[in-house]
Amino acid sequence: MGQPSDVTTQRFSRRLSRAARTGGSLPCISPVASGWVLTLLTFLGTASAVAGIGHENTFLVVEGDSSTVMIDCAGSPLQRLQMAGIDPLDVDYLVLTHAHPDHIGGFPVFALGLWLVGQQNSLSVVGERGALETAAKLLALFNPDKWPGFHAPQFRSIDLSEESVLLDLPDLLITACQTQHLVPGLALRILSKASGQVLVYSSDTEPAPQLVQFARGADVLVHEASGPMRGHSTAGQAGQVATAAGVGKLFLIHYPANGTDLKQLLTDAQSQFAGPTELARDFGVVEW
Ligand SMILES: [Zn+2]
Repeated sequence: MGQPSDVTTQRFSRRLSRAARTGGSLPCISPVASGWVLTLLTFLGTASAVAGIGHENTFLVVEGDSSTVMIDCAGSPLQRLQMAGIDPLDVDYLVLTHAHPDHIGGFPVFALGLWLVGQQNSLSVVGERGALETAAKLLALFNPDKWPGFHAPQFRSIDLSEESVLLDLPDLLITACQTQHLVPGLALRILSKASGQVLVYSSDTEPAPQLVQFARGADVLVHEASGPMRGHSTAGQAGQVATAAGVGKLFLIHYPANGTDLKQLLTDAQSQFAGPTELARDFGVVEW
């Protein structure tokens, strides 16, 4: 079993403290590969476009052995990261899936916050072209060129004409596929190089054949369940995708936070998918 680096040790300590605070399960330590299997996804928010008490808009953070990748950027990212036990300065990459305000509206305040807490490097922002352009315009409205010492974000969009590699990092391989939403968007397939397991996040989408193919054989599928509306999926449709793709486990996310019968959502998904199914909860953690 290899010795973990100082950085890994620090990250592991933070995860232990987070697990203790949230009552979540402890990160697993496994005598394989580098010795430490530590790929975690934390739900920073789980609500659809209207947030509610206890439910922030949907955004996520993935932590590998050496990389931290935030996916989308809702209202108060620094607060949510800190509540999850993650130092905002540890975020190496921000992935933006599509140009809707509930997914990228927190970007200017994230950039401001990183600057004020002592960011030393530019944040790398990758993802769908329209989302990146909108995020850049939002930030520009606040004239960050007048913030002394501010490191301007680096933006890199990908061509959505076919399945593409978004990030190939030492610990994570993230590929992207086009969703079927109201605007161009990305679903993400995230391979943990430590465990060899795969997690797929649908982002906002209607069910579509290319997404079933994209999610094929994933160990975990995190699928939206906004309801019966154009550009989105119901919980039952999320279950159908999980079955068609043959995934191991399903989490429902991006569901209506207020006045919804959450047990019914789960029942609807379970009527279509026989595997383990859960509602994603704010600050819930998935290991894979
Ligand atoms: Zn959307």
